[in-house]
Amino acid sequence: MFEYCSIGSGSSGNCHLIKYKNSVILVDAGLVGKKISNGLNDLNIDIESLKGIFITHEHSDHIKGVGIISRKYNIPVFANLNTWHAMKDKIGKIDKKNMVVFQSDKNYSLGEMIIRPFSIPHDSSEAVGYSFYANGEKISIATDIGMINENIRKNLYKSKLVVVESNYDTNMLMVGSYPYSLKQRVLSSGGHLSNEDCGNFCVELVKKGTEKILLAHISRENNFKELAFETTKSILKDNNINVGKDVFLDVLPRDSISNLYNLER
Ligand SMILES: [Zn+2]
Ligand SMILES: [Zn+2]
Repeated sequence: MFEYCSIGSGSSGNCHLIKYKNSVILVDAGLVGKKISNGLNDLNIDIESLKGIFITHEHSDHIKGVGIISRKYNIPVFANLNTWHAMKDKIGKIDKKNMVVFQSDKNYSLGEMIIRPFSIPHDSSEAVGYSFYANGEKISIATDIGMINENIRKNLYKSKLVVVESNYDTNMLMVGSYPYSLKQRVLSSGGHLSNEDCGNFCVELVKKGTEKILLAHISRENNFKELAFETTKSILKDNNINVGKDVFLDVLPRDSISNLYNLER
């Protein structure tokens, strides 16, 4: 059975852990190496057993610890070619055998899992989200998404568990302290996803069979945990979907390790 845990989620660092039987992988390693190794230690996972680190895009909150983890523990790093080009100067030298290039929107098998990186709109070289398949079940991760498009729908629909960005509250962003240009960037179709857009998308996800939704990449300045949760909960409710009964909903903490989630409870 799949298990999922977040070691950090937000602009101070993103790192997701996916486990299926003996296969354990990370999606992004955007925290300092020590925080990641401590997090894995808390979960009783031997860091040297990691089968790989899968990169979404080259922004520093997603790659800060990649180089150190790969070098110290001899872990392969997977990314598409554009992302490799954009991040290679930022992560330091990676052993050639640990540099793996994939193509977006194709399936790959790793251990007993199938992994599919899919393109998402975000202002980086070639950002991706990920779906993982095993034993007839699917879980997906999509953060740093400027807007929901058909490719995201196609890849996230029918996932039992979805980790999706609920980055900002539009009112908080508009009246907040960000300079005008940064507000425009966050709002743009290559920026981040608002609570409201996330909530509306969650309605679609539940109708397509998603049972668990974890809200991720909550902005420190323009959002807070309870607001993200309540916005999506009330949009679901307006569509006759009850949190706790029809779907499980939770918010991933920004600076600490989350609960360990599986597809059962
Ligand atoms: Zn990010
Ligand atoms: Zn980003």
